[in-house]
Amino acid sequence: MNALNVAKFGGTSVADYTAMSNCAAVIKGNLSTRLVVISACSGVTNLLVELANGVANDRQQEVLTKLHDIHFSILKQLPEAPAVASGVNAILDEVATLSAAAETSPSDKITDALVACGELMSTHIFTHLLNDKGINAVRADVRDVLKTDNVFGKATPDLIETAHHAETVLTPLFEDKVVVTQGFIGSDTQGNTTTLGRGGSDYSAALLAEAVKATSLEIWTDVPGIYSTDPRVAPAASPIDEISFSEASEMANFGAKILHPATLIPAMRQDIPVFVGSSKAPEQGGTWIRHQAEKSPLFRALALRCNQTMVTLTSLNMFHAYGFLAEVFNILAKHKVSVDLITTSEVSVSLTLDQTNTKGGAPKLPEAAEQELAALCKVTVEQDMCLVALIGNHMSESKGAAAKIFSALEDYNLRMICYGASNHNLCFLTSTSESKEVVRALHKELFED
Ligand code: ADP
Ligand code: ASP
Ligand code: MG
Repeated sequence: MNALNVAKFGGTSVADYTAMSNCAAVIKGNLSTRLVVISACSGVTNLLVELANGVANDRQQEVLTKLHDIHFSILKQLPEAPAVASGVNAILDEVATLSAAAETSPSDKITDALVACGELMSTHIFTHLLNDKGINAVRADVRDVLKTDNVFGKATPDLIETAHHAETVLTPLFEDKVVVTQGFIGSDTQGNTTTLGRGGSDYSAALLAEAVKATSLEIWTDVPGIYSTDPRVAPAASPIDEISFSEASEMANFGAKILHPATLIPAMRQDIPVFVGSSKAPEQGGTWIRHQAEKSPLFRALALRCNQTMVTLTSLNMFHAYGFLAEVFNILAKHKVSVDLITTSEVSVSLTLDQTNTKGGAPKLPEAAEQELAALCKVTVEQDMCLVALIGNHMSESKGAAAKIFSALEDYNLRMICYGASNHNLCFLTSTSESKEVVRALHKELFED
C-alpha cells in the first residue's frame, strides 16, 4: 500500500504569513502528504462566534475590519492573485450579510454558516501560499465531502456518504496535487453548512484520513507533542514520545485541548497512527499515538476541562426505591441533555452536563427539563467548576495509588470524585479558581521527581 498522509494545521499554525510558511516547509518535508486540513487563522473563529451571537452594527463593522486585516495582511506578502482576493472578499461580504441577520434573529444555523467563513477564507490564502512556495496545491470545499446530520453546532458525520464523496472528489486529485481543505465544517443533506463543535478541525482531519484510507495522520499545532499536562498550566510538564489510542482518547475526552475529544475515534477504527507536533519546530519531534504504546505507566497525564455544570438531584423517595434514576434519565433524554459524569448516594445523584458545541461556554440545563425534574426531586445547579482528570493504567487495581493521589490534594476541596469505573482515569470537580493549582500540585506529586 502506498503511503498517504493527512496533515492538519491548527489556528496558530496558520495565524500569519510566517506561520503559514512554516507549514509549507512541513508539507514539503513529507512527500506522502496529499491532503492538508486547516483551521481558520488564529482568533478568527472567536470573532465570528461573537458576530453570530448578535452584536450592534458598530461592533459588526469593527469585527469586519479586523477580519479583513487578518487575511489581507497575509495576502499582501504574496504575489497578487485577483481570484484569491475576490474569493476572500466574497466570503467577507457573506460574513457582513450573516452578521446583520444574526443581530435580528440569531440561530444555530446562522452561527454555523458564519463561523465556517474562517476556514473558507484561510484555505483560499493557504493554497495560494503553497503554490507560491512551489507546491502544486488545489483548494477543495470540504462541504462537498464531509456530510453530516443537521444538528448545527455539533453535527454528526455520515461516514458512508463522506467516504463516497472523498473517493470521488478528493482521491483523483492526489495523483499530482496536494489538496487543501477546511477543518471543522461540513454540510447536511440539504447543503446547509454545519460544524463539528469548537476545536473540530482535528476531528475533521481524522474523519478525512479515514475516508481517503490514509496511512498516517499528522496534527500540527503550537506545542511539540502531547505533554503530561497542558504546559501552559504546569510549565514542568514533560513531553510524551508515544501513547496508546485509549490513553490519548481519555485525555482528549477529559479536556486536553490538544485534541478534539472525538479525534481518535476514526483513527482507532482504521488503526491509523497519529503524530502530534509543532509546525514551528518540527525538528523537536512530537508524540506518536498508536494502537499500543511500548510503555503503559501507572500515571500518564492530567487533563483539565473548565466550564462544567453540575446538577444535583435530591429526593428522599430515592431511598431504597427503584425506578428513580430511570425517571431522571428519561427526562434528560427527552430534552436531549447528554450526561458526562455521574455519582450517586442513597438520596441524591450528581451529574455533569456534556457540551462541546460551537457556541461553547458552560452547558445549561434546559428550563423545561429543570421543571420536570423539580416535580420529582430537589434540583441544584452549580457552575464555575472545572473537571480534573488523571489518566493512567490500572490505577484502580494498584495498591497505594489512591493514597498517593489524594495526599497531594489534601488542601483542596474536591467534588464528585469518579474512580474505578474505568481502569484509565480518576476524575473530580474543583472550583475554577483552584483548578490550575490543583493540577500543578498533582503534577508535582505524580510526574516530577
Ligand atoms: P490548534 O489551534 O493547533 O488546534 P489548540 O490550541 O487547540 O491548537 O491546542 C494546542 C494547545 O493545547 C496547546 O497550546 C496547549 O496549551 C494545550 N494543551 C492542553 N493539554 C495539553 C497537553 N497535555 N499537551 C500539550 N498541549 C496541551
Ligand atoms: N476554527 C475552529 C475553532 O477555533 C476549529 C478548529 O480550529 O479546530 O474552534
Ligand atoms: Mg485545536
